Amino acid sequence: MPELPEVETIARGVDARVRRDRIVDAWFGSHPEPFKTPPARQAKGLRERHIIAVHRTGKHIVMELGRSSGDRAQVNNSREQTTEIAAQWIVHLGMTGRLLVTTPEAPVAKHTHARLSLASGRELRFVDPRRFGRLEFRDLRKGLGFAGPGAEPLTIEAEAFAQLFHGRTLTIKAALLNQTLLAGVGNIYADESLFRAGIRPRRRAGRLTRAELEKLREALRTVLEHAIRLGGSSVSDYVDAEGVRGFFQLEHCVYQRTGEPCRTCGNAIKRIVLAGRSTHYCAHCQK
Ligand SMILES: [Zn+2]
Repeated sequence: MPELPEVETIARGVDARVRRDRIVDAWFGSHPEPFKTPPARQAKGLRERHIIAVHRTGKHIVMELGRSSGDRAQVNNSREQTTEIAAQWIVHLGMTGRLLVTTPEAPVAKHTHARLSLASGRELRFVDPRRFGRLEFRDLRKGLGFAGPGAEPLTIEAEAFAQLFHGRTLTIKAALLNQTLLAGVGNIYADESLFRAGIRPRRRAGRLTRAELEKLREALRTVLEHAIRLGGSSVSDYVDAEGVRGFFQLEHCVYQRTGEPCRTCGNAIKRIVLAGRSTHYCAHCQK
């Protein structure tokens, strides 16, 4: 399942390719699962809109869209149409979802649920074999813009971060995985940041000291930014072709290194199960 760094990488890759383009047509498949907004409504909403930008919010990819040119009464000039955010298309990749920028001639992969034709001649496709991904359209004249449920780990301030865990009795590992607290942190980056912060995953979240929480906040940001940098190298492979190569070239310190020597102290990395997820740590380096 893609975590924050993978989604960030994909959002950046798509943004670089479709920003300032225009959606001329939209086609949606007939499986009901991937559509949070009915497909006919998405297609109608997306047509003839300018793409202002594509970015990540939590684990979602958000496409900011201008006003629809069909919406004559609302549009006074083309500048307004291309700069003012009037709608959003929100993509959640789920387990196996992919957002591809391609050309109309490229063979259509099995499990393609959406195809957006762009004025540049490119085509944006959403492919998802297991159909846990979700597509949603929001008209911002009729409702609020998208905001994920949890805080953003790359930008959260020290005080707000400490407040997230205050008084909580669940383990810090489970707390990091809870998407309503922090958005986008999954198993890999939870284990890696706890190692970097020197904190055992089994500790109660509410019992961590302020200094430990601050170490954890910094570790999380460092690990995620490092992963985004590594993910960046595989953007073109991922978006233009198939496969997810490159994302896991990370130099994991603990994740899936059970029994291997800790890179810091040489003791064997341990594995336990917490919150139903395998959890890896060094008993010597993490207290
Ligand atoms: Zn160690």
